Amino acid sequence: MTQSAGFGGDVQGQWVRVRGRLRDEVGEAAYRSWFTSMTLRDVAGGRVRLSVPSRFLRDRVAAHYADRIRALWNGENASIAAVEILVDTPNGVRAPEPISTPRVEPAAAPAILQATPDILDDKGDVSAPLDPRFTFENFVVGKPNELAHAAARRVADACVGPGRSVPFNPLFLYGGVGLGKTHLMHAIAWHVRTQDPSRKVIYLSAEKFMYQFIRALRFKDTMAFKEQFRSVDLLMIDDVQFISGKETTQEEFFHTFNALVDQNRQIVISADKSPSDLEGMEERMRSRLGWGLVADIHPTTYELRLGILQAKAEQRKAEVPPKLLEFLAHKITSNVRELEGALNRIAAHAQLVGRAITLETAHEVLQDLLRASERRVTIDEIQKRVAEHYNIRLSDMHSARRARAVARPRQVAMYLSKQLTTRSLPEIGRKFFRDHTTVMHAVRTIEDLRGTDRSLAEDIDLLRRMLES
Ligand code: ADP
Ligand code: MG
Repeated sequence: MTQSAGFGGDVQGQWVRVRGRLRDEVGEAAYRSWFTSMTLRDVAGGRVRLSVPSRFLRDRVAAHYADRIRALWNGENASIAAVEILVDTPNGVRAPEPISTPRVEPAAAPAILQATPDILDDKGDVSAPLDPRFTFENFVVGKPNELAHAAARRVADACVGPGRSVPFNPLFLYGGVGLGKTHLMHAIAWHVRTQDPSRKVIYLSAEKFMYQFIRALRFKDTMAFKEQFRSVDLLMIDDVQFISGKETTQEEFFHTFNALVDQNRQIVISADKSPSDLEGMEERMRSRLGWGLVADIHPTTYELRLGILQAKAEQRKAEVPPKLLEFLAHKITSNVRELEGALNRIAAHAQLVGRAITLETAHEVLQDLLRASERRVTIDEIQKRVAEHYNIRLSDMHSARRARAVARPRQVAMYLSKQLTTRSLPEIGRKFFRDHTTVMHAVRTIEDLRGTDRSLAEDIDLLRRMLES
């Protein structure tokens, strides 16, 4: 039975309580930005339909809060299994309170649960765009990455040309953040695309794989989804650790994977850990992932960092004194992305002031980067500092208490752990006795709030400076 216009006081009461909980969780400022204009449209068949006045709001709310809203509703009314967020038509009749039923834009596909529209492209192209800079030509080879590079080249070469073959299936690349995994995968794709455009190549992140799959399930379109993947010559899935703990997606991935291997199609996978260390992955999946070649990208060495800096400086046609490159290669050791960031900043600065930069000015320009890489902050330290700052007990960082006074500081600590350490979401979660989705939610919540809540933003800046000094 549809309970719409004039629905029972019961549903109305639930809606009021859900909103109240939301307000407590996200804080007044974010609540005002995202939720005050949201109205309850109807509740039917275990599904709640909410409307917001714009597509923008719909996308934001669907991407960041739909899951949480569903959980809150479900807490109020166990029969609620789904929440749909719709866009009101611009000229639709909208009553100030959801007494009448606003008309709904028919073209707008309802965004359900975890759909994050920003990573879905409307062209229906499953493969994600490739970064034109990520080619083999631009990849600097050194001891830490030579195995991964050689394997990637082998796969790329074997995929084109007359004697096409599959040297190892899968090629599994793993290593810490910013060490070149994505770069190598894009390089393989570019090579195949330019050498033999008839080969069908799909590159996408595991995250996007999951969203596409969820969308296919939702639109009852799984046949087409399966077809897309099962007709490729080369499938590359980046950051596969993302589907840890996501059973249905893993199941689908496992089937896709097996179907392709059976047909002798090449698969390349990347992750932040080796197959056997991928927690939250089914055993059969982990063992299958390790069947081909497992190539580990090690942390960079001084020589590799210097090589990369020289290559990048040359590409940018930036005049950077050799002494300065050496200095950077010594000081910024975490990953290549930060190294590039430092070089970009120096080049930008040089351009701005109109002369090449000296070692002394570099110190100034890179103060924060240098300090951050000198001291690696730990999650324990972050929890301690944040607890002190908000005057709560350290034990509340892992307690089950959900009161706002402890929940918000805990979210701040999770956020800072993500920002200031290289730990993964599951690793951070464990430190807080929470799962990684809670951490993800915390990170997004704080990110949003920072934009609207001045005092929170100041707290975070202060904590960050204390932790990095
Ligand atoms: P990952 O996917 O492992 O986190 P990326 O492939 O995104 O890392 O690399 C981060 C950045 O560092 C990219 O801009 C990439 O081009 C650059 N990079 C990493 N390794 C190398 C390398 N060996 N040579 C040149 N650039 C590199
Ligand atoms: Mg990557």
